[in-house]
Amino acid sequence: MQQQVRVNTRVTPEARPRSPKDYYRRGISSFDMQSQMFVDGKWVGSENGAVTKVLDPSTGNVITEVPLATIEDTRFAIDTARMAFDDGRWSRLTPADRSNILLKVADLLERNAAVFARLESLNVGKSIKQSANYDIPYTVDNIRFFAGAARVVEGKAMGEYVADGTSAIRREPIGVVGVITPWNYPLMMAVWRIIPALATGNTVVIKPATLTPLSTLEFAKLLDEAGLPKGVFNVVTGSGRDVGEELARNPKVDMIAFTGSTEVGRRLSELASSTLKKLSLELGGKAPFIVFDDSDIEGAAEASVIGGLVNNGQDCGNSTRYYVHSSVLDKFQKLLIGKLSRVRIGDPLDESTDMGPVVSDTQRQRIEGYIEKGIQEGGKLLSGGARPKVKDHENGYYLEPTVISTENEDSCIVKEEIFGPVFTIVPFSNYKEVIQNSNNVIYGLAASVWTKDITKAMNAVRDLRFGTVWVNEHVAVPSEMPWAGYKQSGHGASLSAYSLEEYTYIKHVYFDLTGKSRKSWYYQIYGNKES
Ligand code: NAP
Repeated sequence: MQQQVRVNTRVTPEARPRSPKDYYRRGISSFDMQSQMFVDGKWVGSENGAVTKVLDPSTGNVITEVPLATIEDTRFAIDTARMAFDDGRWSRLTPADRSNILLKVADLLERNAAVFARLESLNVGKSIKQSANYDIPYTVDNIRFFAGAARVVEGKAMGEYVADGTSAIRREPIGVVGVITPWNYPLMMAVWRIIPALATGNTVVIKPATLTPLSTLEFAKLLDEAGLPKGVFNVVTGSGRDVGEELARNPKVDMIAFTGSTEVGRRLSELASSTLKKLSLELGGKAPFIVFDDSDIEGAAEASVIGGLVNNGQDCGNSTRYYVHSSVLDKFQKLLIGKLSRVRIGDPLDESTDMGPVVSDTQRQRIEGYIEKGIQEGGKLLSGGARPKVKDHENGYYLEPTVISTENEDSCIVKEEIFGPVFTIVPFSNYKEVIQNSNNVIYGLAASVWTKDITKAMNAVRDLRFGTVWVNEHVAVPSEMPWAGYKQSGHGASLSAYSLEEYTYIKHVYFDLTGKSRKSWYYQIYGNKES
């Protein structure tokens, strides 16, 4: 992905830690937060003492344990956030005061970038190159953008839309926002939800993914240190079924901001409907990567590796369906396979590693299931598909980048989100066909087009039904631009000024200008018109 800011995040290579104590000693994890979550400004365990293990996907070792919160724990956190919202301790601060605290958070994250980068690589299995040079610096930039932009969130200017009065628009916080995040970019996805919600005056209860809660817990320390009032931000670790569903059901929560799968997004829509909560949903994707015959094939092949392998192939915007014009198919395939053979699979904490493991064994088996089914449905395995041997990481959840070509447009590997390092190549012969097939999925998150013909590019930009369309690039997402889904990729926007609006109500305020007790129009309801 595009690097937004540069910060000093030098991470020295080190031998793989062996135990939780080792992780702590090396400053990779915070032992003091072990078995604790952050509620009402305090570090607390779950009411029944239950915990869940957090694993390192590159070894299968236990990193630490975190509380497995109950529904009661969740209700307590919601009550805390409710009180913190209702008494105005945060919402009544000026935008500038809120912004200054959030800017301090960005500074603290920048200062602690190396710790967060390691934590993210350790817990998710992504390469330290990516965490240190992209995930964390970009997240710092996201926070700074939201903190600044929140100071210019505004309604329309005042105006007289009826002769006797002045109307104005206020934008006000929604209240308590329940945030539920996925495991692929634990900190970044949390920040995309937490910071715009806080910047506009809301209070937050967040449930991170059970597999990857560590950076969100560590981030709570930064918010606390930056001076966020107690109770305004709360982290509850636990299962989607208990904590997540309680957030969606509970009438004291005003909004759910969810990033995750389309399937869970549907479930949350059902649950939230009982209280008609506002929902912002950032869901799955199945991005097409369309290579026309007149494109820079070498450039497209180079970018296809990036688009497909960023975050070990676990990015909602990953290029997954490679529609390649038949006349350049052989050339593109050879280039892609050659490049993938040079991808260095290894320890995520080693600076020379390009690709780490996928996040869990369950996820790996799911991906392998898709590879198998894709082949049964007519796909041809061109490369990869096996579990590579990685020295000292024999128990890690590694999987080779896998290329399958198919002409079966209805195959599951063309239609469904795999969320792993699988490249599905589908040949095409004309513009109409490729656009139709690209649009013919339930998702509509992102797409890219590769061509030197500006007219073709502009037509494709118009015709593709996706929230982001890149031309001769894949993956770049600046903080200032919206990241938003069409169709079952969700609704609402992350990033940009549009996302700040998500977390506000609009209020119409009307001021009478006449000072009269009987206004000229009252006769419409009772009495006579004044002459
Ligand atoms: P997921 O299975 O939908 O889980 C996401 C979060 O929802 C986790 O915290 C999970 O908790 C929770 N959850 C699960 N079941 C729930 C329920 N019944 N009620 C409430 N919460 C529930 O997604 P994932 O596997 O973590 O992440 C991968 C997905 O996220 C992919 O589909 C990807 O495309 C999508 N994603 C989208 C974007 C975007 O911007 N559009 C960005 C990143 C990821 P547990 O961990 O306890 O199961």
